[in-house]
Amino acid sequence: MRLIKKWLDKVTYRNVTRVTAPPMFLGIFLTPFGVLPHLMWVSLLGLVIVIAAVVLNVAKWRCPHCGVWLGRIWGIPKYCNSCGKELDKK
Ligand SMILES: [Zn+2]
Repeated sequence: MRLIKKWLDKVTYRNVTRVTAPPMFLGIFLTPFGVLPHLMWVSLLGLVIVIAAVVLNVAKWRCPHCGVWLGRIWGIPKYCNSCGKELDKK
């Protein structure tokens, strides 16, 4: 549990897209397997992965200055839409 928290602390707006995109694609890929009754669990697993990735993304994709959600954009914006402060890309 402590390891997970340590890992979560390392996820910031700078790397959250890199961290959440692969599990999101994996989850989306797994979900259609649910059409086969005996593979229903694969679909559920896919759904859980997608939800977890979305939750993490929403939780971490925030301005470090004012904490506002940065919106549905690919890549880090130069400035925060809310407070106008510069977002550092490093
Ligand atoms: Zn801001």
